[in-house]
Amino acid sequence: MMSPYEIKKQICEVGHKIYDKGFVAANDGNISVKVNDNEYYCTPTGVSKGALTPDMIIKVDGQGKKLEGTLNPSSEIKMHMRVYQKRPDVGAVVHAHPPVATAFTVANVPLDQYILPEAVLTIGTIPTCEYGTPSTMEIPDSLDPYLQNHDAFLLKNHGALTVGNTLTKAFFLMEEVEFNAKICKFARELGGVDEIPCEQLEKLMELRKKMNIPGRHPGCKRCSNLGTDKCRCKDNGAHHHEEGHVCTCGKDDAPKGDDLVAEITRRVLAALGR
Ligand SMILES: [Zn+2]
Repeated sequence: MMSPYEIKKQICEVGHKIYDKGFVAANDGNISVKVNDNEYYCTPTGVSKGALTPDMIIKVDGQGKKLEGTLNPSSEIKMHMRVYQKRPDVGAVVHAHPPVATAFTVANVPLDQYILPEAVLTIGTIPTCEYGTPSTMEIPDSLDPYLQNHDAFLLKNHGALTVGNTLTKAFFLMEEVEFNAKICKFARELGGVDEIPCEQLEKLMELRKKMNIPGRHPGCKRCSNLGTDKCRCKDNGAHHHEEGHVCTCGKDDAPKGDDLVAEITRRVLAALGR
């Protein structure tokens, strides 16, 4: 068990990271950690996450009401509380405005393609929650449809929210959301996204089960034609092409399924510190 001071210090460290990485501007963003059903530590309103010190961290109850601290909780604490109410497995929540991921919601482009194996294993697709007015119950309500099956959420024209059993996990998911959004943006600029084919997705989902990767997952979004002659995955081996696209690449240079899965296993195990 971490001491109250250690929890506060960790919240500050994550705050500094999200600020340094440019995931928030000015006083934006908020972080919370659950101690028990009626005690949570969270960041105060009106302070830059880059300037947080442990004495600024406040304690609130299950309704987000202040129990301890000189500063006041953020109005966005309501969305954290909604997560804790609906997801007893969650121990920490991070909210930030990572610019690339947020731009996807502004441009109305969903982040729902499976492009990187690590992301398939950890977050799956990232849903975009309906726009809500900050500080009202509209934002917590917008999470409801997705809360049970996801650990990472985009908030339309606003930012992102990630949850985890630990604060480190929730922070890593925030990094991963922005990283995926960047790769997706670069790929689109380079001519388009070539998704991981269904057959490979199935292998990754099996691997996910085998590895007991924690957290909620939306499951594998499969090609609706899988197993039929129309399937765009099967014919192309490990390559995958949009409908109507004429393949000019040699099939043989595509990564072989088993090598790919072995390599991903190695990387994911390393990332999980096993
Ligand atoms: Zn926000």
